[in-house]
Amino acid sequence: MNDNDFLSLGLSDAVLRALDDVGYQRPTPIQAQAIPHLLSGRDLLGIAQTGTGKTAAFALPMLERLMAEGGRPRPGFPRALVLAPTRELALQIGDEVAGFGRHLKLSHTVIFGGVGQQPQIDRLRRGIDVLVATPGRLLDLIGQGHADLSAVGVLVLDEADRLLDMGFIRDVQRIVRQTPKSRQSLLFSATMPAAVASLAAEMLRDPVRVDVSPKEVAVNRIRQRLVRVDGDEKRHVLEHLLREEEVSRAIVFTRTKHRANKVAKHLVDAGITAEAIHGNKSQSARQRALGNFKAGTTWVLVATDIAARGIDVQGVSHVINFELPDEPESYVHRIGRTARAGAGGVAWSLYDHSEAKQLRDIERLVGRIPDEAEAALAELDRAERPSRAAERPARGDAPRASGQRSAAGAAGGGTGQKRRRRRGGRGGAGRSAEGSNAGGSSRAAGAPAGSGGQRSRRRRSRSGAPGRASSRA
Ligand code: AMP
Repeated sequence: MNDNDFLSLGLSDAVLRALDDVGYQRPTPIQAQAIPHLLSGRDLLGIAQTGTGKTAAFALPMLERLMAEGGRPRPGFPRALVLAPTRELALQIGDEVAGFGRHLKLSHTVIFGGVGQQPQIDRLRRGIDVLVATPGRLLDLIGQGHADLSAVGVLVLDEADRLLDMGFIRDVQRIVRQTPKSRQSLLFSATMPAAVASLAAEMLRDPVRVDVSPKEVAVNRIRQRLVRVDGDEKRHVLEHLLREEEVSRAIVFTRTKHRANKVAKHLVDAGITAEAIHGNKSQSARQRALGNFKAGTTWVLVATDIAARGIDVQGVSHVINFELPDEPESYVHRIGRTARAGAGGVAWSLYDHSEAKQLRDIERLVGRIPDEAEAALAELDRAERPSRAAERPARGDAPRASGQRSAAGAAGGGTGQKRRRRRGGRGGAGRSAEGSNAGGSSRAAGAPAGSGGQRSRRRRSRSGAPGRASSRA
């Protein structure tokens, strides 16, 4: 056994046997970093998303603690509480707790809304060691006198950013207040927006911070491009980009739920089958949208960061950042939706000058993102260096309309006509002038170069894109 093994983390034999049963041989980074601190009773702030092994990171020490304390739970008084934003996550956590606790004499149950409450009441009445719950139903049952949190010794908030995004902040605060101050508290979140940071400050005492955010995600397999565009042109540019032949399945990210709805509506109006997915949609609506996307009924999903978490759909050829995220880590999460399972992928970011700060932070994390126009110019430079300077428009000279075309064109793959036929999009005919321009630089956008019309593509990319490129300096 070496330092990487579960044994060295201080877990008991019964838990080690269970880990053996479920086939975990080595702790993941978050497990290795968090478990010793949690066993010693510290609070923890975990920056980690699903897939890192965070469930075992909190569940194993929680079970150890309950075993060490001994005793039986009183009816209606759970000894440990895990709050999760959705029923799926709650059930998943419940399954893992059951697996890890298989050789322990501890009970657990999962409660969530949307189903009859009587079986849940019956379980609580029997006495529960580990309660996994979604906030709304838990508060209902507390209100009816079926659960009391005054015996909770360990409290875990899982996917805190999603809990908040789904509007559970007040519920969560009410629940936290009903647990004893002496409890051990853990908060896990994939991102750390201000609201989560302040919740963490409220509920954690001198926490250990463990951060396994995916800075090292293989971004090098993803062809990232920045497409400069004025804010009010973004929807049209997006529409053009989506009509490119190479786009087979795309996730479009917006910062807000409202914007996700508006963008999806715009695309649908333009004849593109798109659906929005975000925290204001009901669970069933989200699942339906995801199901349609997986089945290919819709090929564009417009999502907010948190709603897209956990979406693992193969064959997403493109991620398009309609707006840059405030949190640079979210950019990495977003573009990681493409290039799954070793495949390559393309990430386009529609950038307007009001997003300079976000871009700076993102580039600090992932390195410089090439500009579409710059990439087109570099190509041009190599091919036609002598004549370029004379033809390049002066900075900011490009009229808005041509700027719009060029932004779309520069990112496009020169196959817009074909795309429009394939998708049967309404906007195609109406925008044929722009569409014919949508051929800036297929190389820059990720499509293979030299697929025909090379020369004309270069010419088009020059009509306005360089003006954009110059604004980058
Ligand atoms: P989580 O981030 O907790 O949702 O875990 C993601 C997945 O990784 C789950 O399917 C776990 O079963 C699995 N997993 C977690 N920890 C380990 C481990 N140490 N070894 C192997 N698989 C693991």
